Amino acid sequence: MEVRVGIPRALVYYEYYPMWKAFFEELGVRVVLSDKTTKPILNDGINCSVDEACLPVKLFHGHVVNLKDKVDYLFIPRLKSVAKGEYICPKFCGLPEMIKYSIKGLPPIIDTEVNLRKTRSQLAHAFKEVGQVFTNNRKEISKAYEKALHEHDTFIQEVRKGKYPTEIIEGQKMLRKHNGDLCIALIGHVYNIYDRHMSMDIIAKLHQEGIKVITPEFLSDDVIQHKTDLLPKKMFWTFGERLMGAVLHLLDRKDIDGIIYLMSFGCGIDALVSDLCERKVRRETNIPFSLLTLDEHSGEAGFNTRLEAFIDMIRWRKRNESNISAHG
Ligand code: SF4
Repeated sequence: MEVRVGIPRALVYYEYYPMWKAFFEELGVRVVLSDKTTKPILNDGINCSVDEACLPVKLFHGHVVNLKDKVDYLFIPRLKSVAKGEYICPKFCGLPEMIKYSIKGLPPIIDTEVNLRKTRSQLAHAFKEVGQVFTNNRKEISKAYEKALHEHDTFIQEVRKGKYPTEIIEGQKMLRKHNGDLCIALIGHVYNIYDRHMSMDIIAKLHQEGIKVITPEFLSDDVIQHKTDLLPKKMFWTFGERLMGAVLHLLDRKDIDGIIYLMSFGCGIDALVSDLCERKVRRETNIPFSLLTLDEHSGEAGFNTRLEAFIDMIRWRKRNESNISAHG
């Protein structure tokens, strides 16, 4: 009988799903995803997770609830580090435990550790461990691993060329009708900006306005690294480094008319990085900056009003102020 592995459609699903899917399918394992985020899924997550968790981790709980009765295993790797010398985020390290102790009636969890802080070669070991849940054939596991790496590289190349992860993974149709007047950088974690429910479809809303949208995923690792190397201290949180590096790079460009930082309530990394970014932007440039916080009580009407006001303000300044700050 076909074995089913469940992957919650949350957190780093937007970054690693093509890789994991390729690996499992090469081993003959069926991959089952949770449904797209809805209000009931979010509410389930809020109801069963600890209050201290950040909003994306609460949402992850909701996706596990949505998936747990449809699969034989749940895949929740313990992601400690995905890059040399860096950590991903403390919440990821304890994610399998948070899930185990918060949700009842779970199938077995595959919680293999991924820790590339010292060496990237640990990745092969992690895949081997996952593969051994389903087969003892080393050749098959290594073939599936190679396929997974290939899929990941192809995915990343597509994203760097300017495709949104959801366009590639979910075949989402994005209506790009850029009328050439504005280009906005949308900064935030992948799971905040590409989850249409959580982000209140911000990318589509900006596109509807004829605005070009740039996200950190469009930038290469080299560009990000080059900028963060100039910081007085190493930013050792991978997510923080990408967001900060993206903002620093975008400040050098002449095509950015505004920056929106989408942060999630309860995220320690966002609390620090959004503040650093905002100070940098306000001190060194005239680029309008808006910080939008997503929390479990966020109402779409208020969100839209802030977004529309921000766009109107940028357009008004472009027309009437030659982009000189109203504060002098
Ligand atoms: S980086 Fe922030 S939002 Fe993401 S899991 Fe960690 S605390 Fe939560």
